[in-house]
Amino acid sequence: MPKRKQRTRNVFVKIKGLITREIRYKDNDKLLTVVTAERGRLTVRARGVMRLRSPLASACQLYAYSDFTLFENKGRLTVNAAEPAELFMGLRTDAQKLALAAYIADIAEKISDSDAENGELLRLTLNSLYALSERAEPLELVRAAFEMRAAKVAGYEPQLDACLRCGNPPEAPYISPALGGVCCRNCLTAEESTDALIACPDGVLPLIRYFLSAPLKRLLPPVGDERLIEDVVYVTERYLFSQLDCDSKLLRYYRSLRLPFTR
Ligand SMILES: [Zn+2]
Repeated sequence: MPKRKQRTRNVFVKIKGLITREIRYKDNDKLLTVVTAERGRLTVRARGVMRLRSPLASACQLYAYSDFTLFENKGRLTVNAAEPAELFMGLRTDAQKLALAAYIADIAEKISDSDAENGELLRLTLNSLYALSERAEPLELVRAAFEMRAAKVAGYEPQLDACLRCGNPPEAPYISPALGGVCCRNCLTAEESTDALIACPDGVLPLIRYFLSAPLKRLLPPVGDERLIEDVVYVTERYLFSQLDCDSKLLRYYRSLRLPFTR
């Protein structure tokens, strides 16, 4: 029996998304990576956006959250029309904020799957960029909250209430980024180095619990204690990288821009 030809999609698609990456393509085009709620990560071609006075230029810039009308033909997506919904202008004039936004967008892109729904990841990323752009929260608090919640969204929520090995409440709070939660010092095997455990000073685990469970709109609690923010981000960064098994050049760049004592 002759095989039926697969029906190919050839339609207009209306979708909102955050541009997390842009690559110049041919003379005047860009290839954009767009993170969306409904269809995860998409690669989209924007024709002519490098031309002077292109009507798409504003909505097709890096870190713009835009309303797109895409033309889909044989699995390829091209921008037909686009309007910016949020440009995060406050990011664009501050090198540190821009560097942190680049890191956040990169992690969001790493976690998002192509063609899979992930509304929480998009909202988390947009809220974090909005906080950097428009609000006065310490940058490291925004980073810690994003890192911990991103780990959860990616399916790596840490176990915090009982030791991962013996199941008892740990006698002192240590967290193992590699094991994925709290662990007693004595429960490590002889081969496991105690370096793999991070001691959590007072306040660190409650703040991590807050990041994991708070509504996304209120993900950033008022934290006046800079030392606590430093302690928390020390854990969230190691936890996220250990669970995702990755590293980030963009994070190193952001760090290189931070002066001591800057918030
Ligand atoms: Zn134990």
